[in-house]
Parts: sequence; C-alpha cells; structure tokens
Amino acid sequence: MAFRKKFTPKRKFCRFCADKNLPIDYKRPDILRDYVTERGKIIARRITGTCAKHQRSLTTEIKRARQMALLFYTTVHSTEVKKKTV
Ligand SMILES: [Zn+2]
Repeated sequence: MAFRKKFTPKRKFCRFCADKNLPIDYKRPDILRDYVTERGKIIARRITGTCAKHQRSLTTEIKRARQMALLFYTTVHSTEVKKKTV
C-alpha cells in the first residue's frame, strides 16, 4: 500500500472536451503544434491526456496540416519552411 501512495499521476484531461469552443482544425496549427514534438512527431494520447475521439480527429488534422505545409514532417522541413516565410 505504501508504494502505491508514491505513484499518484497528475489527472490528465482532454483539452478539447474541457473547451468545446477549441477547434481541431488544420487551419489552426498553433493548437496542433501542442500535440506534435519539435521533431514533428504526434505526441501519444497517454502523454497528452486527449480522449480517443479527439485524438483520432487530431491525428487527421495534423496530417492534413502537414500536407498544407502548416506543420512539418521532420526538423529538416521546418527549417525549409522558415527560410521560405522569412
Ligand atoms: Zn475529448
């Protein structure tokens, strides 16, 4: 029992369930970027705490955003994008 007390993970919650007005949209890379690592990988649900339903739509929107060049696939691409916009 004692060792159980030590492991009390912070209660994670789905950001999109908590805020119904928060859109999961490829046109909002500022939101999507929170769910992608700096190397462009989509962060797992168990880490972000996003629910299954929203994680699913999040994944499709991130992939869509990548195609629209709003998000990057890898770090190499991100530097390319920066060069273009500057
Ligand atoms: Zn949710």
